[in-house]
Amino acid sequence: TDFSSLGLNPQLCRACDALGYVTPSPIQEKAIPLMLQGHDVLGIAQTGTGKTAAYALPILMRCKYAQGKNPRTLILAPTRELVMQIHEVMVGLAIETDLRILALYGGLGPKTQIQTLEAGVDILVSTPGRFLELYRKDAIVVKELKILILDEADKMMDMGFMPQIREILEKIPYKKRQNGLFSATFPEKVENLSHEFLEFPQKVEI
Ligand code: AMP
Repeated sequence: TDFSSLGLNPQLCRACDALGYVTPSPIQEKAIPLMLQGHDVLGIAQTGTGKTAAYALPILMRCKYAQGKNPRTLILAPTRELVMQIHEVMVGLAIETDLRILALYGGLGPKTQIQTLEAGVDILVSTPGRFLELYRKDAIVVKELKILILDEADKMMDMGFMPQIREILEKIPYKKRQNGLFSATFPEKVENLSHEFLEFPQKVEI
């Protein structure tokens, strides 16, 4: 199998090639076609399996090119390090597109992030805390969000982010939204979250 046979466009296939991704990993082989079909996906996969590209490629495929000002995709992840890592993978895969991908995390003042949001963004990668902080400052408009990914959901719950995640889920439009939940482990609390958050999910386990 190669990336084009999974249904990805030439721009994305060339980007995979440039990054040295020759063959799709098992999670990619399973999750990419399902996400391209529009399914909600529940992915049980560890870091190192290629899970980031498994959701990033379908997102980039769906967003295609820069459009308007407000983000259409939100990816939530537990830590600044992971947010930066996801951002880096997405920017690499989006090299042949003009998509605007922004990483949001705490630690620095929000001013530069607010200015970038103001200029227009297609895809946001954020920690839950910084997302809510900027949302409350009216720096993020959520009405055009069509894709939501929770990455390392087990870790987010262990770190106590559940109230923030609930709050974010309540704010963003539910209608016609595609969701993905990725987790290294699948304890009961993650299972409960998946029931709450995903609509008829396709479960992908590797
Ligand atoms: P992840 O599990 O998303 O943290 O990815 C682990 C590492 O594998 C990252 O450095 C990716 O750039 C790399 N990677 C992802 N997919 C592939 C692939 N199909 N072939 C080779 N490397 C990959």
